[in-house]
Amino acid sequence: RLEIRNLRRRFGDRDVVNDVSLSIQPGHVTCLLGPSGCGKSTTLRMIAGVEMQDSGEIYVDGNLICDTVFRIPPERRQIGLMFQDFALFPHMSVGDNVAFGLKGRRDEKRARVEHLLSKVGLQWAIDDYPHVLSGGEQQRIALARALAPRPRIMLMDEPFSGLDNRLRDGIRDETLAVLKEEDTAVLLVTHEPEEAMRMADEIALMRDGRIVQQGAPYNIYNAPFDKEAVGFFSDIN
Ligand code: ATP
Ligand code: MG
Repeated sequence: RLEIRNLRRRFGDRDVVNDVSLSIQPGHVTCLLGPSGCGKSTTLRMIAGVEMQDSGEIYVDGNLICDTVFRIPPERRQIGLMFQDFALFPHMSVGDNVAFGLKGRRDEKRARVEHLLSKVGLQWAIDDYPHVLSGGEQQRIALARALAPRPRIMLMDEPFSGLDNRLRDGIRDETLAVLKEEDTAVLLVTHEPEEAMRMADEIALMRDGRIVQQGAPYNIYNAPFDKEAVGFFSDIN
């Protein structure tokens, strides 16, 4: 479970993230929607621990992981990341890529890697190098790698935007299924209305650093907060 309370970040004289609070249950997906520059990635970076907030607190499964005085480093937050440039390590095999964040015995790591690769349907690629795989396959490897250390939270920033339409639907569904099975709480940023409607349990609309509307996709779809949100959902039928 991810909980953030009253998160703020100022750059110069602008409140880029302004009093943002969110709570995401295990196995649930919250979609963060908003125009370019409204503070989505900055919010994700603070949760990941690669950007420091000016104020506010972040909790994972009820434990404080960061406030303005106390700060657990990113690698110990049990938070997985999947961003648009999900860059696999080109000089490592698929298996080594997925094993990268894992500690423990060799055979245990191997079992975890095989388990995750079979979940994303790519067990056959374990000894291949990333560059021989298609974009969609690489994306699924990136998902397996992000899930390997059993993160409680997954932060995804436009993770599917590099894929062509034909691949995207299948990979979204597959990703969602794996995340639900692992009971991960997901915060997903997307510019795709269909992706939001398809993947989200809850949508949070962000404008100028603030969350202005939050609720079930169906409710937001039926009563969008502003013209921009109306436009966003109008492409869907
Ligand atoms: P997009 O949809 O285009 O990715 P976003 O909602 O993710 O937009 P952010 O990347 O969070 O937007 O940036 C929000 C604002 O904060 C932008 O105006 C950006 O220029 C500014 N900003 C982000 N990081 C910094 C920084 N380190 N220094 C100064 N300004 C920053
Ligand atoms: Mg961004």
